Amino acid sequence: MKKPISNISALLSDKLEFLRVLLVDDDEFVLDFVEDMLHGLGVKSVSRSLDGNAALAAVDGAIRPLQLIICDLNMPGMDGIEFLRHLADRGFEGGVILSSGSDKRVIKTVESLVQAHKLGFLGTLQKPVEEAALLTALINFTGLEPKANYGPIQELSPEEIRAGLDAGQMETFFQPKVTVADRRVVGAECLVRWRHPKRGLIQPAAFISVAEEHGLIDDLTMAVFHKAMGHLKEWTRLGHDLKVSVNVSMDNLDRLDLPEVFADIVRQAGEETGRVILEMTESRLMSNIVTSLEIITRLRLKGFDLSIDDFGTGYSSMEKLKQLPFTELKVDRSFVCGATRDSVARAILESSVQMGHALGISVVAEGAETQEDWDLLVAVGCDEVQGYFVARPMPAEDFIAWKTRWEAANCKSNG
Ligand code: C2E
Ligand code: CA
Ligand code: CA
Repeated sequence: MKKPISNISALLSDKLEFLRVLLVDDDEFVLDFVEDMLHGLGVKSVSRSLDGNAALAAVDGAIRPLQLIICDLNMPGMDGIEFLRHLADRGFEGGVILSSGSDKRVIKTVESLVQAHKLGFLGTLQKPVEEAALLTALINFTGLEPKANYGPIQELSPEEIRAGLDAGQMETFFQPKVTVADRRVVGAECLVRWRHPKRGLIQPAAFISVAEEHGLIDDLTMAVFHKAMGHLKEWTRLGHDLKVSVNVSMDNLDRLDLPEVFADIVRQAGEETGRVILEMTESRLMSNIVTSLEIITRLRLKGFDLSIDDFGTGYSSMEKLKQLPFTELKVDRSFVCGATRDSVARAILESSVQMGHALGISVVAEGAETQEDWDLLVAVGCDEVQGYFVARPMPAEDFIAWKTRWEAANCKSNG
């Protein structure tokens, strides 16, 4: 498996070359090992510290700010959690990856702790660190697809995002949702991509939270919603019976006229609100809970379906399910992908399905990547599946051709 990795990293190398990375680990062998791996992937600037205090000194003393820190969780003296707290206190703006030999349960607890800090936390690498996992983390960190053509890393600024929005550079990709029972394509989730003239195709992870923090998320959501309805209208015209899911940020839920605005756009497209699913995650605290609850409830009264996204991650939880009129529960991919080999993930998946069904809510699993994942979803009685096993997100223009091929291969024709 060496070859494909080096091919991908070659495409990324002009980007990785400029990364300034700090490794923190009490084990010199691990430091050597990961440093070699990073150099192999094209990263030139790698510094290293044997403990948290030395690492903090390195952060404070860096002439050019460090961009990425890969830190061991279990260290004598200052452990990884403590180290990250100090980093957050310093307002560290780069990305952070943990590495750990602990079991998944411990890691999950740590991750939810770390996410409470305002750090660019990118996830955990299981030790011994594998090259593929490291590369994936680097790709996620850059927020760009490997094929894209770009220059040295720059943070995406709110000004740039504003300009991209004004220039109409936001595109909508669609990822199919299929039923578990008969594999029919019942809908698609709309996922934004930014077609940047110089940087190529940018993934939402690189700009959604910046947009949220700088008051740009309303314009972004509206741009995406308009485009999504345009595609839905076209697909309905072609005779396809589909629902489209659109992601709504909690920060969108502060204008009381949102239900009317959305409903008007749907009506103008000649569509019905019942064909639109609004996906919501509580990525941070709702600023005004009463207003948000009112808006969510009125969206439902207008006929929109409501999906609780990333279910099980701690932000989207049972509490919300009880309070709000959701019609769909979307189990987070961390409880789907590889759940056959992770008894905790599997237990959460199973109980999410049971709970959803007890409440009369449709349960969708996201992030199914393999036949094993799929088989488990069939076994636990999930209703719908979305994930790479079915298809990756694709340009809207490709969707109907893909659907036709999929159904020809997977569904018995009955009309
Ligand atoms: P999400 O809503 O949880 O969307 C699902 C993400 O999982 C998508 O990433 C999708 O490409 C990815 N995914 C799907 N199947 C698989 C799989 O089998 N394996 C793996 N590893 N990943 C899978 P994407 O498109 O990068 O979007 C990331 C997040 O950005 C979304 O997470 C959503 O929270 C946000 N986002 C995307 N589009 C919009 C938008 O228009 N508005 C807002 N507010 N947020 C958006
Ligand atoms: Ca979503
Ligand atoms: Ca999700």
